[in-house]
Amino acid sequence: MRPIRPGDRGPAVTEIRTVLSALDLLGPATAPDADDFDAHTERAVRAFQQSRGLSVDGRVGAETWRALDAARWRLGARTLYHAVPEPLTGEDVRTLQERLLEMGYDVGRADAIYGVRTSRAVAQFQREVGLTPDGTCGPHTMNALRRLGRKVVGGRPQWLRESDAIRQSGPTLVGRTVVVDPGHGGTDPGVVVPAGPLRWTEADLVHDLASRLEGRLAASGVRVQLTRGPAQRACLPDVERAHLANSLGADVFISLHCDGHANPAAEGVATYHYGTDNGVTSATGERLAGLVQREIVARTGLRDCRTHAKAWDLLRLTRMPAVRVEIGYLTSPDDRARLVDPRFRDTLAEAVVAAVQRMYFPIERDVPTGSIDVSELRAVVAAGTVVD
Ligand SMILES: [Zn+2]
Repeated sequence: MRPIRPGDRGPAVTEIRTVLSALDLLGPATAPDADDFDAHTERAVRAFQQSRGLSVDGRVGAETWRALDAARWRLGARTLYHAVPEPLTGEDVRTLQERLLEMGYDVGRADAIYGVRTSRAVAQFQREVGLTPDGTCGPHTMNALRRLGRKVVGGRPQWLRESDAIRQSGPTLVGRTVVVDPGHGGTDPGVVVPAGPLRWTEADLVHDLASRLEGRLAASGVRVQLTRGPAQRACLPDVERAHLANSLGADVFISLHCDGHANPAAEGVATYHYGTDNGVTSATGERLAGLVQREIVARTGLRDCRTHAKAWDLLRLTRMPAVRVEIGYLTSPDDRARLVDPRFRDTLAEAVVAAVQRMYFPIERDVPTGSIDVSELRAVVAAGTVVD
């Protein structure tokens, strides 16, 4: 076939533009149902070719046409199966593979080809949700994916059952393992504020906060591991912090940071949990983030900058509920003045302990924000009701 090229007109061009528009490549400047291969179309074709690893010439030849054809499939629009010898390919296959990857299944690379590995991963998923493991992704499997896909991340569906088991195991913190991750460290000080009596680097401040949190969690019977000491040489990359937490089999991972901004008016606390742009989120991570955020805001009055989903390595690679808290802006005179007060940091540590405790309350027996008295938790442990 002769490549469709800039200057061409006709229904084939309309078809091409429709797919490019659905992929958000065409831009809002022109109507997707126009039939002329204009400069916008050419730019979009080039961007598409680049994203698919095709040779970038701005024309639609046989290869680009096939790739565009595959790109129009949306997950759920057709039944997917391992076809031999011509495997099914398409954007729907890629979406499925990405979801399976996010849930911890081994599909290899999300290459948009429904090969034997993808089929095996689908069968494994089907077994775990109680469907016939035939490796074919039809309406039932799609329903199960829709039901679970947005809830389960960083683990397989059985992890959802395990997270229920965690709550059913009782509200005690005794024997849980919490990894507390003071951000930065070593040669990386994080946010640095101008010299003066209130000078603290983010790295020092969050390490101090981590130590306070460690003391309180330990007093509640929790095994605590910090990812770094106060004065280590090198800054541990986030990937290694996540691996450390995984290798310890931690129940909860809490990363502590302070924020900074050129505008001194920027202030407040924000908490991050794992999630992607297409709406997949870690259910337990999101719950923990909400609890941490609400407890801190209620107990300190820091401005509420809410919780957010991010696909950062630290949150993506950790295999337990994981959050990163950005507690106050060191560049805000108000936030800084409070952060340098050790009593304020004690309050912050208590807020985080209360949030971790609430993770283990069944949702229907949860308590109002700000109502947990951390010293009572300690008293229960001190009374020896449970001995580690
Ligand atoms: Zn930081």
